[in-house]
Amino acid sequence: MTEARNLGYPRSVMTSSSPPSCIFCKIVSRTIPARVVFEDGDVVAFHDAHPVAPVHVLVVPRKHVAGVEDVSADESPLLGRVLLAARAVAAALDLSESGYRLVINQGAGAGQSVFHLHCHLLGGRLLAWPPG
Ligand code: 5GP
Ligand code: ZN
Repeated sequence: MTEARNLGYPRSVMTSSSPPSCIFCKIVSRTIPARVVFEDGDVVAFHDAHPVAPVHVLVVPRKHVAGVEDVSADESPLLGRVLLAARAVAAALDLSESGYRLVINQGAGAGQSVFHLHCHLLGGRLLAWPPG
């Protein structure tokens, strides 16, 4: 998959629901740069700045939601959009056959450090189980 191009989707603007300090809101709005590999009307996917695998992509909803625990019933379709986008990116990066892992860390105790919902797409090497 090629690197980010303007794919014709409107750039999200900061809204009152976007905390000013949220780094992923700033990536979604293109206030700060990222290597975007996929975007549609609901989600944006970009390479992790500190990859832990040959492929390490983050898929985030455009809308700011802090984490899985904060997804309302109305917003629940977003979870499916995030997972299907991760699958599409995995296919584009030739991971469908070899396999890949999708991870969502919920809460600091699980390692969440950025409190804007995101799904890690990891692949390109053997992935041990159980995770640490
Ligand atoms: P978490 O620990 O919250 O599950 O994952 C956050 C991820 O975001 C980490 O893997 C971290 O490397 C990544 N990250 C943090 N800040 C940035 C950034 O500014 N740009 C990008 N591309 N990734 C980031
Ligand atoms: Zn955010």
